[in-house]
Amino acid sequence: MLSRLFPSKDMETPEDILTRAGFNGSEFRYSDSNGRSMRGPCPKCGGTRRLLVFIDNPLPFWNYVCDLCGFKGRQLEGVPVEEVGMRIPGTRERPDYSVAIEALNASAEWIDYHLALKEENREWLRGRGIPDEYQNRWTLGYVERKPFLHGGKIYHSPAYSIPKVGHDLVLRNIDYRLTNPVEGAGKYRGETGLPPAVFIANPGHIELNRAFIVEGAFKAMVLFIYLQENGWSDTQVIGLPGISSPLWKEHIWEYAESFVMLDPDFPERTKAIARETGSRPVYLPVKVDDAILAGMSWSSFEAVIRNSDL
Ligand SMILES: [Zn+2]
Repeated sequence: MLSRLFPSKDMETPEDILTRAGFNGSEFRYSDSNGRSMRGPCPKCGGTRRLLVFIDNPLPFWNYVCDLCGFKGRQLEGVPVEEVGMRIPGTRERPDYSVAIEALNASAEWIDYHLALKEENREWLRGRGIPDEYQNRWTLGYVERKPFLHGGKIYHSPAYSIPKVGHDLVLRNIDYRLTNPVEGAGKYRGETGLPPAVFIANPGHIELNRAFIVEGAFKAMVLFIYLQENGWSDTQVIGLPGISSPLWKEHIWEYAESFVMLDPDFPERTKAIARETGSRPVYLPVKVDDAILAGMSWSSFEAVIRNSDL
């Protein structure tokens, strides 16, 4: 019934939808072989293909930008709204992890890890920019002998545990930050048998006005605390599990305004996600947690944020 009242874009062509939104839809042509974007005339300054529209985002979030005059927007007006979160471009049916997730939640191991925090562990976390109240809020923990695989062999290392909770407050995965990995092994591990999950700094709160997308749980935590302390309390922070993780797609649309701030080594990735979603790219010269720990002033951070643009 809903679909009859609000026809989905499966029933209308992208050209129809662009026309509805006030563009000259019939003039638009696909601009990539995957059908993810189209080009056509700019409503402001004309031309034939200078306006780029990303059409694989959920409606109305087909963001657009004119190469010539800079006319741009994050969403179309007057088009049917797709239920955000129902359709994630490029994803297929996922394997069912419900049993593994149930087991993870039932094990309550992360609570044992949290209770095992000793003063020296709390001090280590403070040194990473996470005061005790936030260590408790996120149930951060410590495990003396975390087994991990490297090159087909099992090793052990002490590790800090970072539970990752969904907006439904169900635990999705746990990150382990190994403090003594063997040579050549990565510092971070997830739970075996579960897919990578994002770290949501304020789970259960999609009503917040804006979001930052960063890479990694520690950066997300340190940035979240910094924003809270400086009065940006209606701000969500999402930590991606890896630089190439596509999981931002499941979160970025929930917030009216979003900023993408991946590590300085990956400006192209930041730019691509921002361009595709109409988010604002933020380029800091150093990793955000390092900048904050080094005492970056709010006014200098705010200046970078306010100047962020495509
Ligand atoms: Zn233009």
